[in-house]
Amino acid sequence: MHFWCKVLRMKTSARFLIICLMLMTLCPGYLNAATMISPTDEGEVTISSEYRRLSQGEIVKISLQSPVPASAVLSFDGKEYTFTSDDTKRKHFTLIVFGLDMEPGTYDVVVRLKPSRGTPKDIPFKLAISQGAFPSKRIRVARRFTSFTSADIRRIKNEKELLGRIYSIFTPNWLGGGRFILPLKGKITGTFGEKRVFNDNFVSRHRGIDIRSPRGAPVMASNSGEVALVRDLYFSGNTVIVNHGLGLFSIYCHMSKVIVRKGDFIDKGESIGYTGSTGRSTGPHLHWGLRLVDDYADPLSMIYLSFN
Ligand SMILES: [Zn+2]
Repeated sequence: MHFWCKVLRMKTSARFLIICLMLMTLCPGYLNAATMISPTDEGEVTISSEYRRLSQGEIVKISLQSPVPASAVLSFDGKEYTFTSDDTKRKHFTLIVFGLDMEPGTYDVVVRLKPSRGTPKDIPFKLAISQGAFPSKRIRVARRFTSFTSADIRRIKNEKELLGRIYSIFTPNWLGGGRFILPLKGKITGTFGEKRVFNDNFVSRHRGIDIRSPRGAPVMASNSGEVALVRDLYFSGNTVIVNHGLGLFSIYCHMSKVIVRKGDFIDKGESIGYTGSTGRSTGPHLHWGLRLVDDYADPLSMIYLSFN
């Protein structure tokens, strides 16, 4: 079959990936990036974005180069994101997230640049966010995961509060090193944002991806960071949460065994535990999630971003 016929017959996601890869090969230096230059009294400020897609559930990296030492914050959709800076305080970046529930449309973004000396300057721009494509899936699980006893409800509430406290930690430094990696090789059996109907009556959104695996396969940290939580949770079983700084956390669930402890600093690729089927799970797999400030994001969107 002709190559383009094959590409056209592929699933939308595979077709998108092939076309992106071809564009990146044909145009060296092409990295889904847009750049904007804004003049200031001290010289030109360059702002660039890097992303997989500008749609619901995606993370976007915003980089900023200032002509003089400065600090910066970004305002978007009622939230403030702090930039992290290098030693010269001239190169900065931050990460922003388009939540699953964000209305598609055009959003105003403002970067406030505060030079170490001189007056702050606001640099406005716009981001157009499109609708994500999220399928529906029916899943059967044990009854205790869709109808809860009062003890279960208390436990679920306590764990929700605990997770809220973990995700409210904000570390202004970037703890990651280089690009994010997949924590495990395997077929992706559950995609981010899927609408899931459990036992025909309990509906939720899937806030991560599922990677199929035989029980006991090593799970790697997708980037370096500090272990913020190790706990057996009602829904996600044996869970590890790693803080990468800038409000970003990676989440690893349903493990049979965890081999790191809260407070450990771990390197990218280091084993944190082994795959299993603990918590609300229909078989051995790894649920891998990402949380940025107040929203979950598709962890695969992070792999597309470059970091020094
Ligand atoms: Zn999952």
